[in-house]
Amino acid sequence: MAVPKKKTSPSRRGMRRSHEALKPERFAECPNCGEQKRPHHVCPHCGHYDGREVAAAGHELKGTVRL
Ligand SMILES: [Zn+2]
Repeated sequence: MAVPKKKTSPSRRGMRRSHEALKPERFAECPNCGEQKRPHHVCPHCGHYDGREVAAAGHELKGTVRL
């Protein structure tokens, strides 16, 4: 089994983890109602996706619609 020769220093560990920060969630404007929605997701406000209504407006969409 390959074993590291030296203990990873706190500096090197920090350098490795510099890429692990979570980015803030992005939002896009719904072309139908103008509300903020997540990109590539059905609008939770009006239930539209790709120019048509695919879910009941104002209905909770907890992972129910997959496109
Ligand atoms: Zn909408």
